[in-house]
Amino acid sequence: MATATFPKKPPSPNNAYVVAHVEPTPATQVYLPEIFKGLAVAMKHFFRNTKEMVRNERPDPVTESIAKGITTISYPEQKRPYPERFRGLHRLTQRDDGSPRCVACLCCSTACPAQCIFIEAGEYPEGDPRRGYERYPVKFVIDELRCIFCGYCVEACPCDAIRMDTGLHAVPYDSRDQFIYRKDLLLAQASRDGSHLTANPRHEPGDETHPGVTREHMTH
Ligand code: SF4
Ligand code: SF4
Repeated sequence: MATATFPKKPPSPNNAYVVAHVEPTPATQVYLPEIFKGLAVAMKHFFRNTKEMVRNERPDPVTESIAKGITTISYPEQKRPYPERFRGLHRLTQRDDGSPRCVACLCCSTACPAQCIFIEAGEYPEGDPRRGYERYPVKFVIDELRCIFCGYCVEACPCDAIRMDTGLHAVPYDSRDQFIYRKDLLLAQASRDGSHLTANPRHEPGDETHPGVTREHMTH
């Protein structure tokens, strides 16, 4: 008959250590000394915060030193500024004429690991100089609730048409539909400096310094 064998000593995870056994005493069993110590710390910070608030002496939450004291801030009245490369809610950048820079190439929706971008591409109408060169998004929808804010869509876009430089984080809406950002809203979102344009313009059709392919090339 097969007998089960057990390891003599269970494997220890990395960085595990043994906590010394502390003999319980009446003082540790009632917890009172520790409760009073905790209350003293809380009251110390309470009075210091109140005094600084009354005297309007609250230190700058960003520059205050951890060693010097309190590192909490009175959110939402005070907010820590986001770093320059913070990935906030999306926006679609505009051309000078207000039209979307997006050419509906679907690179962003293809790169999106959360599959939360939906684009319906359309052709510009007859007579528009962009017809035949590029398309535009008839619909452009991002489900911000499914988005994981990885920034892949921004990296994938060849036109700098989608950006996450709004400086806005997701807000606590009360219905799921409000997290569905559609084209008009995405185009209306501005960057942190208030611009609806791009900070990294590619060369537009007709740019004489970088003319690219023209209709004349097609006849050769
Ligand atoms: S940030 Fe990432 S998850 Fe969100 S829409 Fe862009 S690619 Fe998708
Ligand atoms: S936002 Fe950029 S990557 Fe996405 S469809 Fe438009 S042009 Fe293509």
